[in-house]
Amino acid sequence: MSSLFPEGTRALVTGASRGIGAATALALAEHGCDVVLNYRSGADRAEQVAERVRALGRQALLAQADVGDEEQVTAMFRRIRTEWGPIGVAVLNSGVTADGHLAAMSTGKWQQVVGTNLTGAFLTAREATKQMYAGGGSIVLIASTSGIAGRAGQANYAASKGGVIALAKTLAHEVAPRGIRVNVVAPGFIDTDMTRKVPPAHLKEAVQRIPLGRTGTPDEVARAAVFMASPAASYITGKVLTVDGGMIPD
Ligand code: NAP
Repeated sequence: MSSLFPEGTRALVTGASRGIGAATALALAEHGCDVVLNYRSGADRAEQVAERVRALGRQALLAQADVGDEEQVTAMFRRIRTEWGPIGVAVLNSGVTADGHLAAMSTGKWQQVVGTNLTGAFLTAREATKQMYAGGGSIVLIASTSGIAGRAGQANYAASKGGVIALAKTLAHEVAPRGIRVNVVAPGFIDTDMTRKVPPAHLKEAVQRIPLGRTGTPDEVARAAVFMASPAASYITGKVLTVDGGMIPD
């Protein structure tokens, strides 16, 4: 496998214990990065991903932290800087859903999703940016087509992901002079634990409206995230790349 990244590039992936985050961590390792694997509660699964990163000849560092918790996030970044030095790549991927129609949505469900997806993106992007100030870098935030087109039953989630897109576009302007690029990958329906929570009838109906006629794989999102993070995308910043089988219009 050819290296897309300079030797020794240190990358952080949040939510790397499973799904899209695990696939992205492995893809970054395949392309030459050492990887910090953040997770919230899945220590065993994160350790399994770390073993696979090491089997690819790269270093792996496990970093437990709830991305929505400011103290935990700052402690995680302090530890990364102390043990490894500053990161050059951050894929901010952690996310949750708690679906339901807005009229019946509790404030708790709203805050849970916005707290992890949007506040988590803010906190981790802020700390990643600070680590990249001196040497430049690249940040990729994982949003969702729900944050662009909306989706019934996902007001909290769609609002959080729409916010992530606006955050990324703004941050891209702020940090471009420091040699930091900021982009978004917006997946459609991807086969992970998250979509396994969608009622089968809803998923079947949604897939019928996907031009490519199927859900995507975590690897297909990982490849897009790696491209956006890598020097191959050196003239791309503040952009959203949808990975959705053609589901939503531009
Ligand atoms: P997943 O399989 O449910 O995995 C979620 C990951 O996020 C896990 O590693 C989990 O860690 C981590 N996580 C959750 N809350 C966290 C927190 N507070 N702090 C730190 N880590 C946390 O989800 P996925 O499908 O791979 O989704 C990854 C990203 O893609 C999310 O942002 C999601 O919104 C987005 N996305 C997914 C789809 C899809 O169809 N799957 C579509 C569009 C966008 P633990 O295992 O330790 O809990």
